[in-house]
Amino acid sequence: MKRLMLIATLLLAAFTASADHVKVRLYSTTSISTLNISFDLGSYNLYGISAKGGEIQLLEDMVSEGRSVLVYTEGNQLHVSVNEDDLGLFHSLRLEATDTACILCLNPVGNDANAPGAKQRTYEGDLEVGMLPDGSLCIVNDVEFETYIAGVTQSEIYGHHSDIFRIQAIISRTWALRNINKHASDGYNFCDQVHCQAYLNRCIRPDIMMGTIQSSGETLVDSTGALIETPFHSNSGGQTANSEDVWRAALPYLRSVPDTFSFRMRQSDWTRTIPIDRWLNYFSRTHKLNTSDSTVLDSLLHFTQESRRARLLGVPLTRVRSDMQLKSTFFSVTPDSASGNVILHGHGYGHGVGLSQEGAIRMVTLGYSYDSILFHYYTGAVIHHDPTANHSYVEHYADRLAHIIDEDSRKQTQVRSKKDDWLGRLFRLRDREEREEIYIEAEQDNEQDWQYEW
Ligand SMILES: [Zn+2]
Repeated sequence: MKRLMLIATLLLAAFTASADHVKVRLYSTTSISTLNISFDLGSYNLYGISAKGGEIQLLEDMVSEGRSVLVYTEGNQLHVSVNEDDLGLFHSLRLEATDTACILCLNPVGNDANAPGAKQRTYEGDLEVGMLPDGSLCIVNDVEFETYIAGVTQSEIYGHHSDIFRIQAIISRTWALRNINKHASDGYNFCDQVHCQAYLNRCIRPDIMMGTIQSSGETLVDSTGALIETPFHSNSGGQTANSEDVWRAALPYLRSVPDTFSFRMRQSDWTRTIPIDRWLNYFSRTHKLNTSDSTVLDSLLHFTQESRRARLLGVPLTRVRSDMQLKSTFFSVTPDSASGNVILHGHGYGHGVGLSQEGAIRMVTLGYSYDSILFHYYTGAVIHHDPTANHSYVEHYADRLAHIIDEDSRKQTQVRSKKDDWLGRLFRLRDREEREEIYIEAEQDNEQDWQYEW
């Protein structure tokens, strides 16, 4: 009976693993002290909070295209202005979208504009701006969960087929739900970098949106119904790695499997030339190996991996990879005494555990189904479908996306620009439909009032 109750509890945990909104810290590895916020679509209400825990105060309503909010740090507060109209000092700010058709554009300015990673980005949803202990801005996107998943999918994988995006969206959704409290002590759910998952812009591509929509409610679980770990890497080099050979835990669904699908892709093979002295000194100094011993010397200069190994003379290959900054641990060594070097011939890129992205891309092009691809890389995993997962992202875009794709296939061209990308067009389409209704109701005769140029 107890066992049954445990299973029921675990199942319940899987079924209830969902999220409507998440908070994601943006530019999380860049120190930004001045930010310009403009509005690409829709309108926002701007709120200020004067002190920690203080009352929220409406500063401006319906801020939209043509206006911009400038925020910069001054002492331990935020200085805020709208179109050069000074609004004063605040503890924090919040920009709330007035409906789902809202896009804002973030631009670090001044000295911050040249910082690495400080490019202009656009996002949907709400925005919160506060201050970090080091005096820089803490910029957080409060966004619908599925919109976040679409943005992550766009940032994490390349490809040209909606199935590859469906696969990535399932992996990213599973990871996000399993790690929903990763940054809870910082006041948000995730950062926007690979520490969590890359989320470098809102999703603007129709195939990625379609893949995310198709995968709505789908996660990967184990036989008990619990969400699994879903690590992935660029390319396995022809064989994935056991989880315990890279990290500590031996997980039953992260087993080493042959993966010929990862051959002949961008990251399949690599070589690296290292001076013999440096190679041997590394093992003698860092790992105390006796390199004057002929057996040790032979092993270091003629190490081979027909299939993946975890260690070289007891030294974890993960350590060698990290210290030598190698693309993978899946390499063999050949000495070239003429040049005084060793040549490392390596396969793959990344830690090798779980899904090989390039292998999955190849499998999609060969016609494998998205679920069989996931089961190839995550041994014994099951796709759980939550029928109650219901997000406005899916509701709003599914049929309109089909309309846009159909329209473009007839036009045979795809218009892409900052203001006229796919999602912008979807929003405009919805906006136009609503305006058409108003227009018909009001029997207006000036078509220019509601027609958009797109
Ligand atoms: Zn993080």
